[in-house]
Amino acid sequence: MRPKNRQRLADRVTRAAEASLAAQGYVAPLDVLLGVGWLDAGAVKRWRLGQINYLERAVQANLSRISEAMKLFRSWAATKGLLASETAYVARAPGRPTLRFSKSGHPTIERLYRTHWVSPALSERKRERLKEKASRAPDLVMIQPLNTEWTCHRCGGTGDLLIMEPPGPACLRCVGLDDLEFLPAGDALLTRRAKAKSARFAVVVRYSRSRDRYERRGLLVERQALVHAHAEVEDRQGATASGECRLRRDDLA
Ligand SMILES: [Zn+2]
Repeated sequence: MRPKNRQRLADRVTRAAEASLAAQGYVAPLDVLLGVGWLDAGAVKRWRLGQINYLERAVQANLSRISEAMKLFRSWAATKGLLASETAYVARAPGRPTLRFSKSGHPTIERLYRTHWVSPALSERKRERLKEKASRAPDLVMIQPLNTEWTCHRCGGTGDLLIMEPPGPACLRCVGLDDLEFLPAGDALLTRRAKAKSARFAVVVRYSRSRDRYERRGLLVERQALVHAHAEVEDRQGATASGECRLRRDDLA
């Protein structure tokens, strides 16, 4: 690459990285690729859904230019004294496969792509929270179809709920979630508890024609998780009620 071109690329990379750092307190290689305009958010979304087998395929630049940009990004991060934080990238797909970034799939390159650079100005607790949040596997989404005449691309069957996979819709049984129980939306505390206790869960959505968007209908969770969550919420409500009584007596005294 000619020095002038490299300088121009360095400027673009720096601008993109500075903007992400200011906005979120850290910068991921993904943010830089988006920031320089080589990737669009739609492609990232499809990649996260497991519909693009590796990210570099969707990047609008050749491999040597991508590699040059990533090198410039890392030297910028080093100059700024940012802290490296390796982050998990998991697909929003059954089985939760690890997302692949590079064409080669080489472990070193994959690790570099997964490494976020975090501002040292953030407290350690804040940095940990950021890492935990960035690494969290995205929720699986099951769709309650408006058109009930659909066919599972795996078994040819159908059902009340489907999950979109790259080749087409799949049924609950084929993705191994048919033993889960449906918990309708509405009780935020119960939902939170049940989700936390369930090793497997999926969010259920339905398209609203009048609002032109998907709306959350509830959660699929493991039966045991639901039973325990119910018990906990009832205990808590009992405890809160007696706490309120005590408070009132104190007020009178
Ligand atoms: Zn099926």
